[in-house]
Parts: sequence; C-alpha cells; structure tokens
Amino acid sequence: MIQLEHLSKEYNGVRAVNDLTAEIPDGEIFGLLGPNGAGKSTTILMLVGLIEPSAGRCLVNGLDVARDPITVKQQIGYMPEDVGFYPSLSAEENLTYFGRLYGMDIRTCTRRYSELLPLVGLDGVKKDVGGYSKGMRQRLGLAKALLNDPSVIILDEPTANLDPQGVADYRQIIRNVAREGKTVVVSSHILEEVSRVSTSVGILSAGRLVAQGSWQNLARDIAAHSPCHVTIHIETQDPIPEFSHPDLISIAYDHEQHGAVIIARSDIRDEVADHLAEHGVRLRGLSREGLSLEETFLSYYQVAG
Ligand code: ADP
Repeated sequence: MIQLEHLSKEYNGVRAVNDLTAEIPDGEIFGLLGPNGAGKSTTILMLVGLIEPSAGRCLVNGLDVARDPITVKQQIGYMPEDVGFYPSLSAEENLTYFGRLYGMDIRTCTRRYSELLPLVGLDGVKKDVGGYSKGMRQRLGLAKALLNDPSVIILDEPTANLDPQGVADYRQIIRNVAREGKTVVVSSHILEEVSRVSTSVGILSAGRLVAQGSWQNLARDIAAHSPCHVTIHIETQDPIPEFSHPDLISIAYDHEQHGAVIIARSDIRDEVADHLAEHGVRLRGLSREGLSLEETFLSYYQVAG
C-alpha cells in the first residue's frame, strides 16, 4: 500500500511535483502517466527515498519513506529507467551481489536468481552483462527489482527498450506479481503501455495530478471533456441524399455526390447507413477517422495543463 500525501518537490523555485495526493492499495497496478517533464521521475525518486520531498510525504506500508528509509527500501523493488549493473559480471553474479546487499545469504540468492532469470527470459545466458543489449539489461533490471521479494514494486518506463516478446513477458510478470497482492507502480509517457497493464491510472501534467481513477472511468471522463470529433468518409454508387442529425457538425459532398465527408460529435455511421439504405443508395464505403485514444489524452493534457 502506498500513500502520497500532499507531496511536492521544488527545484530552484519551480515545482516539479505539486501537491500530489494519492492512495494505491495492495494488489493494484497503478499507471503514472504524463508527458515528458510532467514530474513522473521526481515522484518516483521521492517514493523510493532517493530524493527528499520539499513538502508532504510518501508512506509505504504505513512507513514514512523519508523517516525510515532503510526499512522502506527493504520492502521496495525499484527499476529505474537505466539500471546500473557490473559489466564484467554475469546476470547470476550481479543478482548475487545485489542480493548480498539486501542481506540475503548465498543460498537464498541462488534460489532467487534460479526462479527469476527464467521468468525474465535470461535463463542460461552466461555472458557478462557488459555484452547485453538494452532489452536484456531491462529484463535483468526487472529481475533485480523482484530480487528481495518486495511488497511494493516501482518501475520507471519499464518497456522502453524491450522487444515485443519482452513486453509480453513483462506484462505477464507484473500481473502475476499484483495477483500475489503486491502493489505495483508503473510510470510511462506511453498511454498504450499504461492502459494495457494498469488497473488504475494517475495523470500528471506540469507536476499536478490532473486525474486519477480506474482506467475505464478515466477514459470515459476524458472522452466527455475532450473536443473529440469524428470524421466519417462515405463513398456510394448513387448520389447521396440530404442528411441531418443532431450530432452532425458539417457534411461536405463531392461534386458528383458519390462521396461525402461528415464531421460529427459522435460516431453516427449506423444512422448514416440506415439513411442511405432508406433512400435506396448503394454504399461502397463508410469509414471513421476518429481521434485515437492517444490523441484524446494528449488533447486532455493540453486542456488540463
Ligand atoms: P518526467 O519524469 O515526467 O519526464 P521529471 O520528474 O523528470 O519529469 O521532471 C519534472 C520537472 O522537474 C521538469 O521540468 C524537469 O526539468 C525538472 N527537474 C527534474 N529533475 C531536476 C533537477 N535535478 N534539477 C532541476 N530540475 C529538475
């Protein structure tokens, strides 16, 4: 369980994170979403105790991160954007090294890396980490974040370097971890990534949490607040008759009326198709060109930011 209470961080008088309050219960995958510079990394660094808040506090399982950093760090698994490993050591050796730092004995280290390396797809890779691709390093980073069997897992842009298989593996691992009742925070500027894996979302814009809640509610809310118009292209074999609808904003016929472009407030393709059928017009094409979810969210950031 994570609680952020009026969390703020100032750099030279500029608020990178501004009065952020949120509660993330056990078993939740919380997506921290926002464009670059929104304050995601700063929030995460405060959450894992690497920087101190200017105001407010972060609680992990009821413990104040800034006051009890050592105890809290033992309960947190953290994967930064770029994980530091010893390049001249293998994956097993690196994980053993970090496991020892967590106070694990050699036997426990061996058991953990034997469980985790197959999970992240690095089983049997013997070469030193210096020879790894970025994607392999990120896979190993995930294993490192899970090494001490933490109850809270925090991942900063976790899929930035992964190939499609790596992304699929990562999602499965995260879902399984949450099913065990652990709390997961995933930060990303990629909407699709967050929407695929998270059970709830917080949207940061210029340091402020401008929206939070379940993914479905948020998407609905944002859609309702966004100036989202749907463009519909029609192509017919016969001339198109006059058409009206309350959601219609404009309709532009081509000169022979065998085509038209409609701009509407909602997707009225069914009504258009019914209208054409009623007039005996033979349809050749009816396609929608709407704002993607990504574009809808971007327009929301601009509205909210
Ligand atoms: P995000 O992770 O969402 O891209 P960041 O948390 O990295 O955003 O940055 C939020 C804001 O804080 C940005 O304006 C950034 O320039 C500023 N910032 C981040 N770290 C520092 C720092 N160490 N010193 C000064 N400004 C910083």
